Amino acid sequence: MQSKLYISSPINALLEGFYRDDITMDMLREKGDFGIGTFNNLDGEMIALNGCFYQLDLDGNAHPVQGRMKTPFATMCHFQPSLTEEVIEPLSYDSFQNQLSRILPSDNMFYAIHITGSFQSVETRSVPRTENYRPLSEATGDQKIRHFQHLEGHLVGFYTPSFVPSINVPGYHFHFIDNSFSAGGHLLRCEPEHLDIRLQIFYSMELDLPKTLDYLTASFVRDAQKDIEKAER
Ligand code: ZN
Repeated sequence: MQSKLYISSPINALLEGFYRDDITMDMLREKGDFGIGTFNNLDGEMIALNGCFYQLDLDGNAHPVQGRMKTPFATMCHFQPSLTEEVIEPLSYDSFQNQLSRILPSDNMFYAIHITGSFQSVETRSVPRTENYRPLSEATGDQKIRHFQHLEGHLVGFYTPSFVPSINVPGYHFHFIDNSFSAGGHLLRCEPEHLDIRLQIFYSMELDLPKTLDYLTASFVRDAQKDIEKAER
């Protein structure tokens, strides 16, 4: 069984507004049963759990994906957790992040994180369908936020070390889906009440580089770190 983290494209390409690539959902399935990402033209947030892939649309409603749908950015793995932790006290969003940081054995590794839990509140976003070359930090300005209260659901996500911001979102990046797999989005905030946390550590990763003309002719000279903060937090 693979224990490699798979990243379909460096996030720098997405930050520049390259929203089309040729990686299909069928190709992602070969890379793992667990992951998050987006779709070509930022058409919704993607979440994969136990091999089931969903598209979370602009309103936060979940739809099963078609195998031929494509993504410009996704992170996947075959999920095999080696660490588990239970949190049984209500947490603010800040203390939730602190709890996670306490659990990570090192800040300098990649992790896949699956959290099942009950939440007092969850705030998610989805981004509207967007044409190429509009910078991501601008596109997310039109995001739609959805508020959930008193529900159970799943957080699927990854932790990326701070030294590879051009490859993936540094720190935590979660997508949420409710227990009935009907709604969710990119996590902005949450107030958990009870959490079961499962963690997988990665010592290596596989990175695909896009073969699109946009990517091949791009110049990645500017520091896109600020854009990540604006687009993903
Ligand atoms: Zn996201």
